Amino acid sequence: MPFFCVMCGECCSQMGDVHVVEEEYGQGRFLMLNRYTGERHRVEIDPALARLYPDRRIYERWPGACPFLREKPRTGENVCIIHRTRPDICQEYRCWRLLILNEEGVRAGRVMERRHLAADDPALKEFWEQTVAVIREDDIARWDERVTGLLERAGYTVRR
Ligand code: SF4
Ligand code: SF4
Repeated sequence: MPFFCVMCGECCSQMGDVHVVEEEYGQGRFLMLNRYTGERHRVEIDPALARLYPDRRIYERWPGACPFLREKPRTGENVCIIHRTRPDICQEYRCWRLLILNEEGVRAGRVMERRHLAADDPALKEFWEQTVAVIREDDIARWDERVTGLLERAGYTVRR
């Protein structure tokens, strides 16, 4: 299953301290500096997303967001406006191992690292504490199978 990003924007919401614009060349082209690694990267705004660049409302919600994160006004999706040229660190990023969707197909939570649940939905959090957190299984593949089965029987969809 390919990585399925729901465009919540959380992973980019605190990256403004890391990714800074060092130089602007005009026509949507920039030199971007990763302040943690010292790497520099030439990036370019995707033409189809250029109209979003002047809209800085996202910084009211997330003052520390990456300089290239924007919200699509109609859908509320958060997008990287330099998606095609974004740095390798962003291309390789995966925020979850297991994605848990509720019956409406909306994200209810994510399993990150090995077994950490980042829950969006309080009902999932409660289910997890009562039913999943008590599982004693050292083998991670078997643990995934058991947890997936429990979640699916409870009405969730699990994507890997
Ligand atoms: S990678 Fe994960 S945290 Fe980042 S926008 Fe996609 S779903 Fe959200
Ligand atoms: S460059 Fe794009 S993917 Fe990377 S942190 Fe910024 S908005 Fe997110």
